[in-house]
Amino acid sequence: MSQILEEVLAANGTYSENFGSKGDLTIPPARRFTILTCMDARLDPAKFAGLAEGDAHVIRNAGGRASDDAIRSLVISYKLLGTREWFVIHHTNCGMETFTDQIMRNLLANSLQTAKIDETGWHDVGSGGGATEAEFIDWLTIGEQAQSIYADVKRIRFHPLVSREIPIYGYLYDVKTGKLIEIPEATEIGRAS
Ligand SMILES: [Zn+2]
Repeated sequence: MSQILEEVLAANGTYSENFGSKGDLTIPPARRFTILTCMDARLDPAKFAGLAEGDAHVIRNAGGRASDDAIRSLVISYKLLGTREWFVIHHTNCGMETFTDQIMRNLLANSLQTAKIDETGWHDVGSGGGATEAEFIDWLTIGEQAQSIYADVKRIRFHPLVSREIPIYGYLYDVKTGKLIEIPEATEIGRAS
């Protein structure tokens, strides 16, 4: 068994022993809100937003982008599970700022193994051959955080399957301080009507 697998199962054993009454939680989130954010390991929405099990939906992907699949989850979150307020939270020092579609396509065309980054950018150091399928994926990279938050809130706001009743707040999480910083133009375009 890998060390990680062993550690995860041990941690889960302890968690499960102290599970208490959480088995009685219902499917709809008790505090009726949803956070869309990045998968970055430094971000822990339960901690930075004060969530307990059963409180809120957290949808995560690379960048916290409003991809078609994120929107699928958001629509389910409201239509079937009754959330009433949504947050889009990107963060400082996001890995999605370090590459473009073309860089990712070139790296993957060279090999599928883990690439390396240095001060001059990404370099593929793998072997075993790559694949060109990356050409068909929009990697949803980020140029500038405030702009990406605005663009994502706007996309969700005007999506035909999203109710106008849901306020959508745009925030930037600062990885140096743990603080959420509002992006006012994003919250403004995301306001309910
Ligand atoms: Zn990120």
